[in-house]
Formats: sequence, C-alpha cells, structure tokens
Amino acid sequence: MSQPNPFRRLPAVSQILTAAELSDGRYPIEEITTAARAAIARLRERIAAQDPLPDGDPLPSLVAEVLSRLEAGSAHVLRTVINATGIVLHTNLGRSPLPEAAAKAAYDAARGYLNLELDLATGERSSRQNAIRAGVRKLTGAEAATAVNNCAAATILALRAVAAGKEVIVSRGQLIEIGGSFRIPEILAVSGATLREVGTTNITRTSDYEKAVGPNTAAILRVHASNYRVRGFTQAVGLEELVAIGRRHGLPVIDDVGSGLAVDLGFPDEPQVRESVQAGADLVLFSGDKLLGGPQAGIVAGKKTWIDKMETDPLMRAFRLDKMTLAALEATLHLYRDPFRAIAETPTLRMLTTPLAELRARTERFAARLRQANPSASFAVQDDVSYAGGGSLPDQALPTVVIAMEASDVTDAELARRLRLGYPAVLGRIQGGKVLLDLRTVFDWQQDDLFRGIALAIT
Ligand SMILES: *Cc1c(COP(=O)(O)O)cnc(C)c1O
Repeated sequence: MSQPNPFRRLPAVSQILTAAELSDGRYPIEEITTAARAAIARLRERIAAQDPLPDGDPLPSLVAEVLSRLEAGSAHVLRTVINATGIVLHTNLGRSPLPEAAAKAAYDAARGYLNLELDLATGERSSRQNAIRAGVRKLTGAEAATAVNNCAAATILALRAVAAGKEVIVSRGQLIEIGGSFRIPEILAVSGATLREVGTTNITRTSDYEKAVGPNTAAILRVHASNYRVRGFTQAVGLEELVAIGRRHGLPVIDDVGSGLAVDLGFPDEPQVRESVQAGADLVLFSGDKLLGGPQAGIVAGKKTWIDKMETDPLMRAFRLDKMTLAALEATLHLYRDPFRAIAETPTLRMLTTPLAELRARTERFAARLRQANPSASFAVQDDVSYAGGGSLPDQALPTVVIAMEASDVTDAELARRLRLGYPAVLGRIQGGKVLLDLRTVFDWQQDDLFRGIALAIT
C-alpha cells in the first residue's frame, strides 16, 4: 500500500487567509500572505527532510504561526526597557529619562500645534530659541543662550563662529575622545579651525598658552575631561586664568563642560555651568541629557555677540532642535527655578542622590518578594558600586546595593539573555556567575513588570 503524499496535507495560502483570526483587518493582506507563504514553506521543508508532521489538521497551528510572525514583524524596534544596571546615564539606554513635566510637555507638543515660531502677542514670526533662552540665562547667569541638537553640534557651531580659518589653543591634556567619534582634534577640523596644541598630557602651564598666542589665534578652548582623569604629577590652567590670558590678548574663551551639572550634588570634580559663566568664559557648552537630566540637546550660554553669530550660521538650521525636544527642554529648565524641586523631580538627579539606606530598604523588600515567589532561584542582597555613566563622574564610585540573582540549571549569560528578551526587556549586569540587579535605576512603577520578567526568565 502506498503512503498518501504528505505534501497534500498542507493547506493553500488562500485557506489560511480566510481564517477568522486573520481576517479582522488588523494586518494588511500582503503581510498576511507573505507570512502564510513562509509558514507553509517551513512545513514543506520539514516534510522534505523526512520529519513527519503531527497527526491532525495542520491549519490551526499554521494560523497561530502566521499570527506570531505578524506580531513579531510589527513589534517596534525601540521598546521601553527596565534599566537594572544601576548606571544612571546609560548611553545605550537613552541617557537621561525625562522628568514627568518634560515628558508631558513633549507629548503635548507632539500631538498638536504650538507657537513654535510665533509670538502670540504680536502675531509676528519669532525664534524657536525663545522657548529656552530665559531658562538657560536663569540657570547659568549668562546674558544670552541658544540650543541645538547635542553638545557635539554646539561645539562645532561655537568654533565656526569664533575661529573658522584661524587657530584655537587647546591643552594636550584635553584632546579627548568622548566616544562615538567625538574627538576634539576631529571636531576642530570639521569646524574649519586649526588646532594649536600646547603643554603635555599631564602638565600644561600659563606660559604654554602665552607662548602659543600669535597673529592667527582666534580663541582658547577648554574641554572638560568628562570621562577620564589624569592623576599624580599633573597641572592644568584653571578657567579664571584662561580667561585672564584671553583678556590680555583679546581672545574669547570657549568652555566645553559637557556634563551640564547645574545644582550642587557634592561631586567635587564636576564643574557647574554657572561657575564657568561666572569665571568669564565667553561661551559655555553642555549637554541637555547628561547631568542636567533633560532631553538630548546641546546648550550654549554666553556672550550675546557670539551667540547671535552662531544663530546666523547656515548649519544652525541643520542642527536645530525639534518642537518636542524644545518643549521638554523648556519644562526641564523650568524645574531648576527651585533646585530642590529639580533634584526631586529630575530622575537623573534623584537616582544619583538616592540615600544608600533608602536603596537598601527598597532592595530588601523587593528581594523578599522575589524569594517568596521563586523558591528555585536565589536572590542575595549585597553591597556593590555603580557609576553615573554617560561620560560623567568617572571617578565617582557610587556605593549601591544590588540583588545577586542565580537560578538552578540556567547560566548567568542565559539568564541575562532571557531577561533582555522579555517584555519589557530587563537589563542587569553579569558578575561572578550571577546577574546583578540594581534598583537605583528602576522606577517604582516598573517594579511589577520587573517582578514578572524575573519570574518568566528563571522558569
Ligand atoms: C558628552 C560631551 C560632549 C558631547 O555631548 P553630546 O551631547 O553627547 O553631543 C562634548 N564635550 C564634552 C566635554 C562632553 O562631556
């Protein structure tokens, strides 16, 4: 007796298309057809490889497969993740989470119209920069302000305005790379200015700057060595002294401070933007999404003549902020009118200043909940250190408390992978065969999701 042809058991694409689960209009017919062809092709390959199909009608399982292919295909690439790494400014996870007020402002700006470039009082056209000028001036004490896409863009525009075709003096100790191709010598080259290096990696003196000043010098640039430190036999020229040198020779001083710290958090090595303006820097540049805790932006505070010049650069158009970011930045700056409110309502600042005792209590409570629900895994609470991240405070180890998680029959890497692939994805740190979870960077409203994600990953 000959066997029935197993390929005959496969349904036609048209049969799949008429399944009730797929005909509710949720997915375009072309996508369903493509997914159905792929699902049938998979079964055909299986039969060709002498791997028999299970008994019964293959249609229901094919329809289920088509549905899951469609769902996977329509999932967004960008998803919310739970950051349990303890790294507050995690560049790969989007740096600063926004204060609620800023997120709300961005949402409102996104879904409707707004007076982005319109003065409602006069009905005349206005500058989009007006949204942030007063806030930045108040924050820094500068006479003028503007903002662009990021601090890299701000640096390029500042150098073009001040020094295109001329020389800029920079200490060799400040020729840094921030990461992602932001290297000071290359940024200078892009801006059309010429780099005039002075001093050495560890020592640069006033006389080094003085000797470098010539007829073609246009500016002095100071760059905050955000993400590294030179320790030991070192000497650098402070900003006030640089400003004095600049005044003697009629040269503007640009201070790229990067991190944008605007309140006193007790971090001695991190410059505050207000101090740079007070010291007399002509242009002070910093990011919006590092220690300021707002959206991605490059903020410029300083002398009006230079800022006016920057704003007339054709590149300003290429680097300008969109309406959502501007709205979020204005709202973030608004919080800083009261420094205590800024710390309380800006997640980045709040996470960096969470008292250890509070973090410990939160972690103990969560670990107890995990232990009770997941007897097959272990959840030890232990002391550890974390870092601010995002190229800020490289020396500032933050004492922290973590949950060290271990599940029987699952390797640390596999556990971390399962956590990463959950909805929402959970990111921890692997260390010593365990997955470490640091609740410093987990919002209270994420705890139930984290709890479920962990339960799914260890079973
Ligand atoms: C981070 C940083 C930059 C780059 O800022 P982005 O906003 O990421 O473009 C530039 N300069 C310094 C000193 C920095 O720390």
